[in-house]
Amino acid sequence: MFPVTDDARDVVAALERYMATGGVHIRTNARVTALSVHPTLLSGVQVALGGETIPADAVVLATGGASWPRTGSTGDGYDLAAALGHSLVPLRPALVPLMVEEVELARSMQGVSLRNVRLTAYRGRAEEIDPALTPTADFGRGCGPRRPPKGVIESRMGELMLTHFGLGGR
Ligand SMILES: Cc1cc2nc3c(=O)[nH]c(=O)nc-3n(C[C@H](O)[C@H](O)[C@H](O)COP(=O)(O)OP(=O)(O)OC[C@H]3O[C@@H](n4cnc5c(N)ncnc54)[C@H](O)[C@@H]3O)c2cc1C
Repeated sequence: MFPVTDDARDVVAALERYMATGGVHIRTNARVTALSVHPTLLSGVQVALGGETIPADAVVLATGGASWPRTGSTGDGYDLAAALGHSLVPLRPALVPLMVEEVELARSMQGVSLRNVRLTAYRGRAEEIDPALTPTADFGRGCGPRRPPKGVIESRMGELMLTHFGLGGR
């Protein structure tokens, strides 16, 4: 998702304004190391933060995923949730850029952004692809039980950006 200004800082500023109107107190550089619920009362949550413990009526766990630890998505949330007894499903990358063999061609068009294009991944080599098999509807995970045309792995309509290594999503 992109704000109309194309600047992620506007999203942060909007959220900060919203929190300010609600009187939210923000603590930065404060890593939650544990959450605990009283074993018998099962109400109230103790939040371990640095050297202190903060009692809370409820906790919203919004620690992000595990995609890029340096930016804060360390995967801590999974450990915190598991310690509270939640079950976890194995992690998988959900959205990744594609590197192409024709890297020079991609680089020559770096920065070109296209809307409403269909991207189809086929099994096999490019010269073996029959363009007549290009689907007219989305196929792949989350697209329902329809069988894709022969050789098609996945097909999606959306926005596409050419990058210095291949294809990125937009
Ligand atoms: C390279 C890259 C490019 C992306 N590009 C786009 C894009 O163009 N458009 C788009 O819509 N999405 C994009 N995304 C996806 C988007 O960044 C995420 O979907 C979104 O940030 C998830 O928001 P979140 O609030 O769930 O988690 P996050 O934004 O990860 O926020 C989680 C926060 O929790 C904090 N935290 C974690 N553990 C603890 C702890 N133990 N104690 C205290 N705080 C903790 C983290 O420091 C972080 O600040 C991109 C992601 C990546 C990695």
